[in-house]
Amino acid sequence: MRIRWLAAVAAVIAALIAWPTLAIQPAVSLIISNGIVITVDGNRRVLNPGSIAIGGTDILAIDTPANIAARYKAETIDATGKVVMPGLINTHTHAAMVMYRGLGNDLALMDWLQNYIFPAEAKTVSPEFVRIGTRLAALEMIQSGTTLFADMYYFEEEVARVTKAAGLRGVLGQTVIEFPVPDAKTPADALKRTEVFAREFRGDELITPAIAPHAVYTLDAKTLTAASELAKRLAIPIQIHLAETSAETGMSQERHKMRPVAILDSLKFWAPVTIAAHAVWINADEITLLKQRNVGVSNNPESNMKLSSGTAPVVAYRGAGVNVGLGTDGAASNNDLDMFEAMRQAAFQQKLVTMDPTAISAPEALEMATIGGARVLGQQARTGSLEPGKRADVIIVGMSRPRQQPLFDPVAQVVYASRGDDVETTIVNGAILMRNRKVLTLDESRVLSDARSAADQVRKAVQ
Ligand SMILES: [Zn+2]
Repeated sequence: MRIRWLAAVAAVIAALIAWPTLAIQPAVSLIISNGIVITVDGNRRVLNPGSIAIGGTDILAIDTPANIAARYKAETIDATGKVVMPGLINTHTHAAMVMYRGLGNDLALMDWLQNYIFPAEAKTVSPEFVRIGTRLAALEMIQSGTTLFADMYYFEEEVARVTKAAGLRGVLGQTVIEFPVPDAKTPADALKRTEVFAREFRGDELITPAIAPHAVYTLDAKTLTAASELAKRLAIPIQIHLAETSAETGMSQERHKMRPVAILDSLKFWAPVTIAAHAVWINADEITLLKQRNVGVSNNPESNMKLSSGTAPVVAYRGAGVNVGLGTDGAASNNDLDMFEAMRQAAFQQKLVTMDPTAISAPEALEMATIGGARVLGQQARTGSLEPGKRADVIIVGMSRPRQQPLFDPVAQVVYASRGDDVETTIVNGAILMRNRKVLTLDESRVLSDARSAADQVRKAVQ
């Protein structure tokens, strides 16, 4: 009898809990109306014109302007004549390295890294320096339409705090490297730091903590294995620089008689989400293996061209079903974080090296910069395309500049003729971070003056 009574009470409580979700339609909080909506969904649907209804953090509906207007009433952004599209996803960067933008140009990777960047970092990187640099990067990303970025740096908890305050989404990797660095004297310290950081941000709406073992050439087998085991135990993604240059592959063969991919495979390194940055010097067998191990590739065409690192076999990756996203790499090797440029250069580079203009089309470049990047980062259920049920990570891109006229093909215009500066409004998780070029989550003049002041430390460090 008592059990039956308890069951009845439980049923009433369950009904009360369920009732609001059943009875009340999710409240619409924002409407973007009458734009050219490029969804980047599975059917590459473009609604011209189309409107989007956003409720809280999520996209509720995408439909014709008339249908959305009939069903929903809320604050409305008029996007007439503008492109409305998913926010861009930068799958590989080192945000705070904007502070070294323009240092040591026109060098090869190993020379640039070992003689300029590593020494400058040893003298300047601190929690405050990382906060200042990441704020500058966040400002640049919001202003150029990036809504999610993958980061690899030091003091990653500071990167996470700044990213969250700026309202951006991040898959943020704490660096693990063999030699002493400003936030860790030993790799063991870096592993401990990763664990604390991952626990602090577990389950966060915007931040996905990750671990970033730097590369095969800067880590020994023991640390690579420990980093991988920690990633699996904490269920966090791994980010690693992989086969970026022929020098790396050569060093690997000389020291270990194995290529970088074989080393990692022999260590059972791969986690459920592993992001291989660059993956330029990869042969056909390794492409098959990366597919089998579900490793995603971050293609960084601008950094690879500037440092003469080579060209990633993007067409072969895509043919083999390997997920490919785009990245800018750190601003010190690019020298900006503009993902529109990354899209255009990714397409042009593949067309040139394959001598095939169809190698990467405009819709394919756009997919790599959005849903493809989301897949690489394990975020495709949440973001990467405009679809009801996904988070509202949306950008509105102006199409009225002379270089954007006339407008025949909106996707081609986005990829081949638009720039980060054309982004007018940036929305992440349903929140407006920039509206009509005014950034709402960062004090722009303060961010710029702090960065200029901190640049003095860098000047002194490289004198
Ligand atoms: Zn990098």
